[in-house]
Amino acid sequence: MRYLVERSAPVDLSCLGTQGPRPIHWACRKGHAAVVQVLLSAGVAVNAPDFKGLTPLMTACMFGRIATAAFLLGMGALNHLADINGDTALHWAAYKGHAELIRLLLYSGVDLQKPDNFGSTPLHLACLSGNVNCVKILCEKSKIELQPKDKNGKTPLLLAKSHRHSDIVQVLVTEEKRRARWMPPLSKIWALLFGGAGDSKGPLLLFMGSVLLWGYPMYLLRCVPITWNILRVSHYCFIYWNLLMWFSWIVANRRDPGYVTVNSDGYYRAIKQIPYFDKWKKRNIVLSRLCHTCHCLRPLRAKHCRICNRCVEYFDHHCPFIYNCVGLRNRIWFFLFVMSIAINCSFTIYFACYCIAIEGFEIMYVLGLIEALVFCGLGWILTCTSILHACMNLTTNEMFNYKHYSYLRDKRGRYENPFSRGPILNLVEFFVCHPDYNKDHDFLEEEPI
Ligand SMILES: [Zn+2]
Ligand SMILES: [Zn+2]
Repeated sequence: MRYLVERSAPVDLSCLGTQGPRPIHWACRKGHAAVVQVLLSAGVAVNAPDFKGLTPLMTACMFGRIATAAFLLGMGALNHLADINGDTALHWAAYKGHAELIRLLLYSGVDLQKPDNFGSTPLHLACLSGNVNCVKILCEKSKIELQPKDKNGKTPLLLAKSHRHSDIVQVLVTEEKRRARWMPPLSKIWALLFGGAGDSKGPLLLFMGSVLLWGYPMYLLRCVPITWNILRVSHYCFIYWNLLMWFSWIVANRRDPGYVTVNSDGYYRAIKQIPYFDKWKKRNIVLSRLCHTCHCLRPLRAKHCRICNRCVEYFDHHCPFIYNCVGLRNRIWFFLFVMSIAINCSFTIYFACYCIAIEGFEIMYVLGLIEALVFCGLGWILTCTSILHACMNLTTNEMFNYKHYSYLRDKRGRYENPFSRGPILNLVEFFVCHPDYNKDHDFLEEEPI
C-alpha cells in the first residue's frame, strides 16, 4: 500500500457496482487497521461513504473488526452517521451480533435508542442477530427502553420469539421482571439522590429551598427566641456545623473532582498502536479504556461522567446536590458536606422536639420535624456508606457495578478488591494521602505485549 501511495496510485476510487466501496471500505471489511492508517495519511476522508452511505466505521462494525473500529473512532470517525436505510454503526454491530463492538460504541457515547428507517432500534436488531451477549449488553443500560415498536408494530421480544431465540427471550423477560420489581421505586429514589437522566437542577433547588426558605427562617423566628438561653452550647455547635456545611458545599462544588486530562499523549499513542494491536494479548482492556469523547486513556477506576462530559478519576457518582462529580479530589469535601447535613438535621430534630415540648404540637414544628427526620436519615445513611466505602477502598460506582469490572473479580468471578490494604490504611488513603494522579504514561508500558 505504501509503495502504491508513493507512486500516486488513486487511493479513493469507488468500485463500480451497486455498493461502490472504496479501498478504505475494503481495508475495514478485512480489519487491516495498518492499511487504513496508510490510506488516511494519504488523504482519504475518515467518514467517506460508499454508494449506500456506509462509512468505514460502519463497515468495520459490520464485519466485527473491533481494533479497526477503535482506530477509526480515534482518528475522528463520527459514530452517529447513518446509511441510506438510517442504520448507524451501532445498528450494524447489533445486527451482525458483535458484542464487543457494541460495548466499544457504548463507550464512545452513541445514541442507544435511535430507530432506523424501518423503526428498528439496535435492540431489535440484536434480537434478530440471535447473539444473546449483544442483548445483555444493551439491556444493562437502564436507560434503554425494552419494548420499543418498529414500523410493523413488533417489539424486540416478539422478534426474538418469532425467530425462536429462546435464550434471548429469557434475558428480555427476566430483565422486564427485574425492572418491574425494582426499578420504579429504586430508580426514583436513586434519581432524586444521585441525579437521574439529564442535567436536573431539581435536587439542588429542593435542598436550597428547604434550607434557605424554610429551615433558617423557622430557626431564627421560632426556635432561637424560645430556646437560645436554654440550649446555648447546642446553638453554637449548630452554627459551626452550618458554616462548615456551606464551606464544604462550595469547595465540593467548585473543585475539580479529578478530571482526566483531555487530548492526552497516551490516547494518541494508544490509537497509533491500534494497527498493531492484533498481536496484543489484552487489547480489549486497552480499547475499553480509550475515551473517544475526552480523547484520553482512562486510568483504572476512572469513568466518563455523562453529565459533566468528562472522565473523572476515582469516579464515585455525579451528585446533583453539589452539582458536580464526586471523585478523587473532592471526595473528602463531599464527605464533610454529607456529614454536616446529617449532624445539622440531628440538631434540627433536637430543637424541634424541644420547641414542641415547650409550645405544644404546632403544625409548623411537626412539618419541620418530619422533613428533618427524612434528611437526617438520608444524611446518616450516606455518611455511613461513605465511611464503609472508604474502609473498603471502593467507590460507589464500583460497589454497584463491580460485576462489570474485571479488576474487582478473582479468577472464579467472585468479588476481590486488589486495592484494599485493610480498613485502617484504606481510611488513611481516603482522608490523608492521595494516590498519584495521571499515571497514564506508565500505563501502556505496563501492559503485557
Ligand atoms: Zn471521557
Ligand atoms: Zn459528573
